[in-house]
Amino acid sequence: MILGRRRRESTLDLPTLEQARPAGEFVASVLSHLREVVDVGWNLLDVDAEAHRLIREAGATSCYIDYHPAFGASPFGHVICTSVNSGVLHGRPYDRVLADGDLLSLDFAVAVEGWVADSCLTVAVGTPRSEDLQLIRDTEQVMWAGIDQVRAGATVGDIGHAVMTEAHSLGYSINDRFGGHGVGRTMHEAPFVPNHGTPGGGAELVAGQLITVEPFLVPTTSELVVDEHDGWTQLSADGSRGAHAEHTLQVTEGAPIVLTARSDDPSPRSSLG
Ligand code: MG
Repeated sequence: MILGRRRRESTLDLPTLEQARPAGEFVASVLSHLREVVDVGWNLLDVDAEAHRLIREAGATSCYIDYHPAFGASPFGHVICTSVNSGVLHGRPYDRVLADGDLLSLDFAVAVEGWVADSCLTVAVGTPRSEDLQLIRDTEQVMWAGIDQVRAGATVGDIGHAVMTEAHSLGYSINDRFGGHGVGRTMHEAPFVPNHGTPGGGAELVAGQLITVEPFLVPTTSELVVDEHDGWTQLSADGSRGAHAEHTLQVTEGAPIVLTARSDDPSPRSSLG
């Protein structure tokens, strides 16, 4: 075990906090900006174009545009995921105008100066439905339950267990296929950070490492189906609305650094106050 741990530490390419901060601050600023400006009447393709404009202006590098993992039908082709209503994850922007009351998740990842940050925010467009605000609040609460477990020596099982337990306590079930992940020079690195788990199980966290915690919740189901039209968007199996929250964290010996924390959130633990 000790040998294994030494080997893992010696091969990890870890950024200093100073190196990791610019990507986190940029991702946070773009999500804050989009939350501020995106409104009823915006086309999802305009949301993508606005994020792309900001990437070019900053000299950042999109992690999404050429991304072609096993779970996507083709290279993604856009710089941001826009998941609307029953779209829960990986929503590929398309020609659709946002309507009053839509629920929109914005998931965004870039590299700045060689290091990646990845974050997601769910917003109600126009007049919010009270049940959507509750769903956003619950998703963020579940994310913070996971973040509270993040420290050197803790395991991904500790995080997953906390996420799952908090979700269950609020009446949600957990999808076990997608979850958080390591972040570094690229967007999806080891370890997988599941939204379920056993305390003490799985990979151990090391100080300096970057990981994401990212629960997504649908009140009525944990099952997702891929949208046949784009081969990317993960829809709730029953058509119910979903919410998604994600931060990129740097592990320390104590509380993690929330690299993608948004300075304009009403409280550090809620985008809704
Ligand atoms: Mg993300």
